[in-house]
Amino acid sequence: MILAANWKMNIAPAEARRFAERFLAKVPPRQGGELVFFPSAVAIEASVQAFAARPDVRIGVQDVHWEARGAFTGATSVALAAAAGVGCALIGHSERRHVFGETDEDTRRKLGAVLAGGLRPFLCVGEKLEERERGETESVVLRQLGAACHGLAAAGLGPLVVAYEPVWAIGTGKTATPEDAAEVHRVIRTALDALGVGQVPILYGGSVNAGNVQALMARPEINGALVGGASLDPDGWAEVTRLALER
Ligand code: PEP
Repeated sequence: MILAANWKMNIAPAEARRFAERFLAKVPPRQGGELVFFPSAVAIEASVQAFAARPDVRIGVQDVHWEARGAFTGATSVALAAAAGVGCALIGHSERRHVFGETDEDTRRKLGAVLAGGLRPFLCVGEKLEERERGETESVVLRQLGAACHGLAAAGLGPLVVAYEPVWAIGTGKTATPEDAAEVHRVIRTALDALGVGQVPILYGGSVNAGNVQALMARPEINGALVGGASLDPDGWAEVTRLALER
């Protein structure tokens, strides 16, 4: 099971160090448990160092540019992230798509760059509320997944992780029911099978917390969680992690 913390635009380097100390004291390594933290770019190096003693923890970057280098102010290349000790990259998070206006084509380029650069991509897909209300959940998720993987050989997609994150559930306190989430996960699994990519973990994200994590993780279709708000406090995230891994 993968438990991934998306710290978004929170947690400075010194806070990341304090977080790691407190969190690691409460969460021993567990068989089958992979922990990933996505700090802001400025806290990557501190996070890499702070979690270095734990082989079950990986640090990821929240976004990358597809170009290797150059005049792209504010952006981080895959190579720069890897040089800072990063092992994973979030791609196509809904805030990148809907706040920063990233397109499916941008996501495709980023996924290609992440795979070519040897990082593990965490590809986010998910529908907006109006899309769900129009009955378009399946078509939106399949379009985002298909567009991101377009032109990439199945053999190269092995490291992929997919996160199903309904946009209406992110940071809102509204969570998809385990049944609703599982239904979309089955759709994604079928599409991945059709692409010839097996064994891809599919995570759920959207207001996961200590109160709902066990019911969500009890579904065999759900292979872990990507969590924003509930991952910002070390004690709270330790509790969510414990509940998920003990389920
Ligand atoms: C996210 O940002 O990926 C997320 C799921 O956020 P939250 O847990 O706060 O809904």
